[in-house]
Parts: sequence; structure tokens; C-alpha cells
Amino acid sequence: MGVIEPWVETFVVGVLQMRCSIVTDRVTGDTVIIDGGGEPDRIIDWVDEFGGIGPDWSNGPRSQEEMEMQKIPERKVVALLNTHAHFDHTGHIPDLLERYPVKWYLHPADTFLQTLAQISAQRYGLQLPPPAVADVDLVDGEILELGALGFEILHTPGHSLGGCCLRLLVDGGVDHLFVGDTLFAGSVGRTDIPNSGGDFTVLAHSIHTRLWPLDPETFVYPGHGPLTTIGHEKATNPFVGVDSGSGVYGRGKYA
Ligand SMILES: [Zn+2]
Ligand SMILES: [Zn+2]
Repeated sequence: MGVIEPWVETFVVGVLQMRCSIVTDRVTGDTVIIDGGGEPDRIIDWVDEFGGIGPDWSNGPRSQEEMEMQKIPERKVVALLNTHAHFDHTGHIPDLLERYPVKWYLHPADTFLQTLAQISAQRYGLQLPPPAVADVDLVDGEILELGALGFEILHTPGHSLGGCCLRLLVDGGVDHLFVGDTLFAGSVGRTDIPNSGGDFTVLAHSIHTRLWPLDPETFVYPGHGPLTTIGHEKATNPFVGVDSGSGVYGRGKYA
């Protein structure tokens, strides 16, 4: 299964400038929120009624009028997904769950990390609600069917134990890959964050074995920084690209 024309919006939220992505099927309006970690009111206002300041990147309509012109039904949030459990990615999941009473998906190897969200945020002077508890485990290799949207789950540990990349399957087009902090444009996720189980060798292995075999045109949405593609990173990434040798660097530049 796969959508034909996904509508993707990304919001850069919070002090750590984390990317929250909203994926909608234009035919049914079925919508999934990935990494709803910050600025929940901004996300909700926009998803519900195009209110507020809106996304930082979008390939879709920017108003109710454009929705109607493009014949897209009203958006219906069907699930919340997370790439991993660092607090900048999960801290405001409880606020989103209050507005959208759906299931929240996380890999179980990040369950411990998730319990630390408030404590981790306090190091940045931030207050968070009590951490959400995942409703459903992400399972490596599974195709998750969420309304009309299908995601393949790729477990890619190395930045955190439960880190996953979520591949939106697109029929007759290029897939979209939400990588969290596994891979960045020109960098990789840090492997030294406390309580996370980070390990550069494991991270590089995850990327080499699970991401590089994907179609080079695959759109990549990292948790921080610019968008990129699999082919571009495979060819040029100094940490894990094909010319990076055995990878002498131990860490990337973002949290
Ligand atoms: Zn992270
Ligand atoms: Zn992050």
C-alpha cells in the first residue's frame, strides 16, 4: 500500500529547533504527526484551521480555500508516531494526545529514555508535562497501516537504543523517510547523550545497512537542520558516506 500524493508539512519547533512533520493523504485527509515534541498549540492551530504561523516547509495547501480548490477533505489525525524518545521529540506528546485521542507509537527500546523527558528538559530550564507512555510498540520491518498511510519501520539504533526511521510508502513516486536524529544533512546524530545508548559504530552500521540500500531519490526529513536525500548523503556525508572510510568521528553536531 502507499499514498499517491502525500502532503507533507514540517515545523521547526522548540529551543532545540526540532522538526515535527505532518503527513496527510490528500484523498482521505488521514493525517499522522511525527515527533510532536514542541509548540503543540502551533501544530494544533494549523492542522485544525490553518491558524497561527504555520509550517516552515510544505508541499501542500496553505489555507482552507486552497484545500477546497485541491479537493482535499478535512484533515483527520489518525496516529502519532515518534522516531525516538529524546525530550525535544516527545515532550509535548501529552498535549497533542489531549486534542487528538489516538494511539502513540514508539520503539520499546526507548521506553526508559522516555521516562526521563522532564529531567532532561530541566537541564535546558524547560518545563514539560509528565511524559507520555506509548500505546503501541514500533516493530522493525513492520509495515504500519495508519488510515490510508503506510509506513515501513526501520529500527536504526546508534543515536538512541530505540531510534527508528519511518518510511512513508508512496505509490508511483518517491518515498519520504523521517529519520529523526539518525542522519542529518552532512552529519549524523550525537552518540554521547546520557541514558540513550548511543554508539557511533552501531549508528554507522544502521545507516549503512538500512538506509543506503534505499532508492537514492528518497526524500529525507532529519530531526534537525535541512532536508536532504539518501543519494546525496550516501555520496557526500563526511561521517557515514561512501568516502568516509571506517568513520573516525565519534559524534555529529546535533542533539
Ligand atoms: Zn535525539
Ligand atoms: Zn533531536
